Amino acid sequence: MTFELSPFTAIADGVYLAQAQPACVTIGLVVGRESALVIDTGSSPAQGAAILAAAQDVAGEVPVRHVVITHAHFDHYFGLGGFSGVTSVAHRGLFAAAHAAPIPADQRESLGVTPDDLVAPTTTFSLATTLDLGDCYVEVVHFGRGHTDHDVVVLIPERAVVFAGDLLESDGGPWAGEDTWPSEWPQTLDGMLGTLGKDSIVVPGHGPTMSREDAFAQRAELAWYGGKAEELYDARTPAQGSWREGGEWPWPQEQSEAFMEIAMRRLAASGRRPSRSLRLLT
Ligand SMILES: [Zn+2]
Repeated sequence: MTFELSPFTAIADGVYLAQAQPACVTIGLVVGRESALVIDTGSSPAQGAAILAAAQDVAGEVPVRHVVITHAHFDHYFGLGGFSGVTSVAHRGLFAAAHAAPIPADQRESLGVTPDDLVAPTTTFSLATTLDLGDCYVEVVHFGRGHTDHDVVVLIPERAVVFAGDLLESDGGPWAGEDTWPSEWPQTLDGMLGTLGKDSIVVPGHGPTMSREDAFAQRAELAWYGGKAEELYDARTPAQGSWREGGEWPWPQEQSEAFMEIAMRRLAASGRRPSRSLRLLT
């Protein structure tokens, strides 16, 4: 596995982005008058330490005092062990989520990370918390379940920038796993979308920055998949093989069917009964 970190580049006044490999995850840096904040930590403690050093370089005399972890996936969280001396902030569900399932063997091997490397955040919250960087406030908010059950969004209203974590992705669209809540995802995004101004810059977890319109468009796609999942589930049609070329499906086949698979599994687990064939019997 190759670990790399691009230089930080500015996207707004005192707001910088870098990309870390593996997974090309976006790392954020917000520099205020009195302190600086890093968003997400990379994939290993060594990479986390390198990110902290690079961020401190850019921040200059302003100390990096906080790091926010948007969610527990390896590329966002496994670097936290390298942020010694920095207050870490995450949703209270992050640590439990990270330990709910063993680190997959391929990740353990390729990243060189063991469960002992996963440190708990120093500060957790349920709904929202605020960080004061001196001349600007940063709001860290959990709007609900979506990509995971503990996603947090970082709002910097005075700089018109929002860090969305993996609730949005411009590099190939949203990604869903076993820990995703597809049907709740669009409503969760609504909370964030409501904070955007027309010139807001939205920073997804992966890929280039997005406009407000881009974010709305991806929210609409997610809602379409939620509706399609219900339609297929009610018709007892399996996700695999449901994708149609040149049709209405917004995303490519593999990604679409994988997302649908998760969404339909959640519908089954919720106790939903396929309505089309059972309605007459109930
Ligand atoms: Zn993720």
